[in-house]
Amino acid sequence: MKILLDGQWIDRDDKIEVSDPFDNSVVDTVPKCDRIDVEAALKAAVNGFEITKRMSVYDRAQVLYKTAQIVAGDLDTYATIIAREGSKTIREARKEATRCVNTLTVAAEEAKRILGETIPFDSFPGGEKRRGYYYRFPIGVVLAITPFNDPLNLVAHKLGPAFAAGNAVILKPATVTPLSAIKLVEAMVQAGMPPMAIQVLTGYGNEIGDTLVADERVRMISFTGGVEAGKHIVHQAGIKKIGMELGSNSPVIVWKDTDMELAIESCVSGAFWAAGQNCIGVQRLYVHEDIYDEFRTRFVERTRKYKIGDKMKEDTDMGPMITEKEAQRVESWVNAAVEKGARVLTGGKRTGALYEPTVLENLPDGVAVHCEEVFGPTVNLYRVNDLDDAIAQANSMPYGLLAAIFTSNVDVAFKAAYELDCGGVMINDSTDYRLDSMPFGGVKYSGLGREGLKFSLQEMTEPKVVCFYLPNM
Ligand code: NAP
Repeated sequence: MKILLDGQWIDRDDKIEVSDPFDNSVVDTVPKCDRIDVEAALKAAVNGFEITKRMSVYDRAQVLYKTAQIVAGDLDTYATIIAREGSKTIREARKEATRCVNTLTVAAEEAKRILGETIPFDSFPGGEKRRGYYYRFPIGVVLAITPFNDPLNLVAHKLGPAFAAGNAVILKPATVTPLSAIKLVEAMVQAGMPPMAIQVLTGYGNEIGDTLVADERVRMISFTGGVEAGKHIVHQAGIKKIGMELGSNSPVIVWKDTDMELAIESCVSGAFWAAGQNCIGVQRLYVHEDIYDEFRTRFVERTRKYKIGDKMKEDTDMGPMITEKEAQRVESWVNAAVEKGARVLTGGKRTGALYEPTVLENLPDGVAVHCEEVFGPTVNLYRVNDLDDAIAQANSMPYGLLAAIFTSNVDVAFKAAYELDCGGVMINDSTDYRLDSMPFGGVKYSGLGREGLKFSLQEMTEPKVVCFYLPNM
């Protein structure tokens, strides 16, 4: 595929192959951008902002509504690209494409609600005869850096609000999954977005990233990805706004009074969705001891029914990991835990990039599958008997994106909601629940700031005060 740079769709002789992790077939190629392309993108983005900041809210919203319609009218194509270039099964990919339509639609709606307020200047001596207000203005050039695991919708989560706010964007999608992102940019241009409003750079983050991130023409970095890259970017960025949507190893508490069937269905899906490559995937399950044995038996039975394999088949529940190297990493983490005493209840085997849905218990302290973000299809069971202890264990990690609790006791639910240290608590859903318009983000190493259209729009705009001194009033 070509990329959009300085208003033109361009190609390069130097290319990167995008391959399907299931069979390693080449899906397509993209240009391998270099530092000259980065400079071209930065210059063009500054010019693009001169256009976008002058567009009316109505025009910006119309482009986003039309983009949503284009994606909605071609869902199968988008789903196929997501499934081919990434890890998702075709059913998972369809859901992502549908969510992208909602993300763009809500971005269009929120464009019309970028509001300011009047300011009571005369509320303090010295403010007499002054009248004023603030309004929110676009921040300028937004650098959007996106991960592989939701290659379409997480791009929409940045392009939608950035454009709704009147910004220009430089998009650097994940190198393994750039195709869905480019297809979305094609739709935006088709919908009437000025081509100068967006620059796409396909190339390795560790080659072109520093030049982009450190450049003063970039006024905001909106990054979604892993903690390591996030920390590096923060160090390079200098003085600019930064939004960080990072990882987690999400905890779920299953209390003794829960609807067990609901908890099992929800947590199995939450653990293995997108082969566990999901920032809100269930990784740590704290189960009350009164129901632990039955929960474990039924959870393992349900996991064993999971059908893994060809992503394009309708009845496949889980596809491969994004690369064989990633599956090897998960395999080595599980093996290291087992050597130290962890027990594999089901799964634990790898074929190429396919790693079986794996359930573990008896986790020793300090092993990576317990305390790091696995970002793969493994889930840990822990036996607990005290709510304070379960909450303390849930909070004991350096992450805090979403947490969840299954219970029918409102007191238990409220206590968990207030004491779990994270960006959101799901009651009777697993952590793998996100409405695209809710404020989404984490505490500690899980991130900085919030996404979720209305909230992204706040982050991607700045308030400007206007004050009239009216001495003759
Ligand atoms: P990643 O390796 O951190 O990469 C994310 C993006 O950052 C890619 O586009 C990557 O480019 C780029 N990048 C890497 N190093 C860079 C640098 N030095 N400068 C500029 N850009 C750089 O993450 P991933 O493996 O794609 O995604 C998985 C991670 O994302 C997980 O930790 C997951 O939890 C997190 N995530 C968080 C959320 C959330 O909303 N909180 C949502 C989804 C995923 P290349 O591809 O070229 O390396």
